[in-house]
Amino acid sequence: MPASLEPSATSVCRLCKVATARIHFTSNLREIDVSCETCGRFRVEIPGYDMNLDELTGAQRLELIGKIKAKRASGDDSPLITNDDLKSILGRG
Ligand SMILES: [Zn+2]
Repeated sequence: MPASLEPSATSVCRLCKVATARIHFTSNLREIDVSCETCGRFRVEIPGYDMNLDELTGAQRLELIGKIKAKRASGDDSPLITNDDLKSILGRG
C-alpha cells in the first residue's frame, strides 16, 4: 500500500461497476469498508476487493449483491465478503 494513500477514497464501486463508492481502510488491515450508493454498505476481505471482484461476471455480481442484501436483511448492517465467498462464487471453492 503506497504511503500517499489516504485512509478513505472514492472510486467506482468494484462490485456493481456503476455507482460511486467510498472506501475506508479500517483499523482491521484484513478488510476494507465500502459504502456504495447502489450496493449499500459492506466489507470486503483484502485482497478480495482488488483482486477477485474484477473477475466476476454480471451474473456473479448479482449473486454477490444478493448475498449482501440477504445478510443485511438478517440484521448484519455491514456484511463481510470473504475471500472464501468470492472463491465459491468464482467456482474455485
Ligand atoms: Zn456498488
